[in-house]
Amino acid sequence: MAEKIVPINDLRSQALAVPGAPDAPSGLLLDALGRPLHDLRISVTDRCNFRCVYCMPKEVFDKDYAYLPHSALLSFEEIARVARLFVAHGVEKLRLTGGEPLLRKDLERLVAMLRAIPTPSGRPLDLTLTTNGSLLARKARALKDAGLDRVTVSLDALDDAMFRRMNDVDFSVADVLHGIDAAHDAGLGPIKINMVVKGGTNDGEILPMARHFKGSPYILRFIEYMDVGASNGWNMAEVIPSAEVVRRIAAELPLVPVDPNYSGETAARWRYLDGGGEIGVISSVTQAFCRDCTRLRLSTEGKLYTCLFATRGHDLRALLREGRSDPEIAGAIAQLWKVRADRYSELRTVDTSGLATGARKVEMSYIGG
Ligand code: SF4
Repeated sequence: MAEKIVPINDLRSQALAVPGAPDAPSGLLLDALGRPLHDLRISVTDRCNFRCVYCMPKEVFDKDYAYLPHSALLSFEEIARVARLFVAHGVEKLRLTGGEPLLRKDLERLVAMLRAIPTPSGRPLDLTLTTNGSLLARKARALKDAGLDRVTVSLDALDDAMFRRMNDVDFSVADVLHGIDAAHDAGLGPIKINMVVKGGTNDGEILPMARHFKGSPYILRFIEYMDVGASNGWNMAEVIPSAEVVRRIAAELPLVPVDPNYSGETAARWRYLDGGGEIGVISSVTQAFCRDCTRLRLSTEGKLYTCLFATRGHDLRALLREGRSDPEIAGAIAQLWKVRADRYSELRTVDTSGLATGARKVEMSYIGG
């Protein structure tokens, strides 16, 4: 039974320092390990209509859970302003996350504001969103029309009973599949499907999922079960290494490895030998990819996190709401990234998951995966 955790906003966060004479953004910002800032993940809500057991277990995120009040959330105007400053630093990919981002009212309005941001390179921003698919059928067309490029949909099983057990709110596979097809019909793509594989729970679904999506326009990715946050009761014994996932599929559906689309891509790609499309594996536990990690995360209440497994945030909202100028905020972002040296997954061992320091890791439902 996961330990009952206290409301999330008591996580240690610190003020974001503003440099005396901030440099103007140059379109390229490297961290302490030489990694360029390229992706910003923006959480637009800490709420979700699912209770996935590896992310937002019901016994922790129950009816008494203290979600953030609306006044604490960054407004669309604040998010768009922040995104514009990140793009000036070289960010070319914006991913909207949550909780479940489609729960945030009028999200397409934010999408249109982000779509309007010009990039220093002149290339269009890569604007994407991660969703559980429950509201996609209703929203896909409006999101596409507002300027969204593509979506990633979480689906942890094809078997309906198993899926309902995983999301713990009795939501059906058919409704998510319907949402995926609606997104495809609306012209969003390429569409990726993310399956978190938890050993002893849904690993029996690896082959049924592969068979189902093979030959479809969708790219299925298998994610190793991770020790995110402090509430999912993670155990290394429940991790199915990606190598094992590939071995199981290839035994029936032969696969060949494919080169990454770009440096920093989280998934390792495999193509079906018979031309039936490709799959991906995301191996944060057994094949860490921190060396190429170009991601920063912005929580829905305006805290910056330099790693998915961070134990503290940096308060950007305070700078926004105390009237700091664009150069000051851009300078503060640059200063934070330049000293970034996170590589949690490289350092992870069976012992680190509890973090001897006792500091609690931020919850994935709060900053998006
Ligand atoms: S563990 Fe942290 S540094 Fe490593 S890839 Fe994930 S987010 Fe990046």
